[in-house]
Amino acid sequence: MTYSARQVIYRPKFVDHCILKMQVRTESNLNVTEEKGLAYIQPCAAEVGKVMLESNITKLLRTTHREIIDFDVLCDILNTYKIRFSETQCSLTLGVSRVKWRGKTISIFKKGKIKIREALNREDAMKMLQDFLRLIWGSLICEECGQPAIYCAAGMCNKCLEENAQRELVDLEELPTGVILFNALTNLSKPLSLLSETFSNILDGLRGEKISEVRVKDFERKLNRVNLLALDFMVQTPNIEQASLGFIPLGITLNLKTVFRTVDDLIKEINKNSNLLMQVDAKIKNNILEIFHKIGNLYESISQIASMKSDVQHDVKKVREILENIRRIREEIENTSSELNKRLFKLFEDADKIYLAGLRILNIFGVGGV
Ligand SMILES: [Zn+2]
Ligand SMILES: [Zn+2]
Repeated sequence: MTYSARQVIYRPKFVDHCILKMQVRTESNLNVTEEKGLAYIQPCAAEVGKVMLESNITKLLRTTHREIIDFDVLCDILNTYKIRFSETQCSLTLGVSRVKWRGKTISIFKKGKIKIREALNREDAMKMLQDFLRLIWGSLICEECGQPAIYCAAGMCNKCLEENAQRELVDLEELPTGVILFNALTNLSKPLSLLSETFSNILDGLRGEKISEVRVKDFERKLNRVNLLALDFMVQTPNIEQASLGFIPLGITLNLKTVFRTVDDLIKEINKNSNLLMQVDAKIKNNILEIFHKIGNLYESISQIASMKSDVQHDVKKVREILENIRRIREEIENTSSELNKRLFKLFEDADKIYLAGLRILNIFGVGGV
């Protein structure tokens, strides 16, 4: 795939002690302190002539944190990446996972122990340790907020992603693996266009038409494609600070998952109560239709930003107008909310969840604070 007009993105900013920054320190330490007991290398028991490496993530991260891996997220990551492995096992209940990757067997345990078997030599083992840490980075728990890194990246922990911070522009063409990240971002347009289709369905549903349910599976497949590319980028990018840019698409897809779950609930609710809007006066009815219409516009703009075809300033201007509109409708709704029944109120709450996820995504893209 070729680059289009725009190749620059903003680098999200994270607070100082966030795991998304800590790893940078860790990995540069890894090479020099290997001899000091951070990783042990010995002959491999399984295959003569090969070596085995044993280490512990808590030591590598120099943390005293008892829980260092979110196994739920870890299994998610490994499953997303399983087409790159020749074997994948991940057991939440046992807190053990094992994958076979590039001829080596990597086991990881809940308390942070990690073993790499059948490595060719010391360098091969160390390289695999680094690559594997990159891969599972999103599942490592941040000391700042107690959430897995991927939640920090998504802005969902409400602590680690700095809003309104001065941000550095990164030119993807200058990264050796920039094209992979570019592809991850532009692939976001697929789930996003499915989403905008769904928003027009919701409007039809609110007007009383029966609507088809969300294609959740289809949507998740599209998100997984984006995540796979993001993980490829993180593993293959030599410089770790640049590699951390892979958290941009990862954080966005996590937000989009929430959006789709909410939309799915919403459609079921609308289908159950086809006369939802019959009992309210025209003004409230209009506001409800209007807010879903505007939120649809918001996600269309997000899709534009992800497609990287237009210029950032133009996108920001457009988003600002939409947000202004949504703000106004939300205020009107708040004033009338006492007149609403429970079902309609739930509708607004869902709209709000979808709206807030949109704001988080904009913040990840560096278009936050508008
Ligand atoms: Zn964090
Ligand atoms: Zn956090």
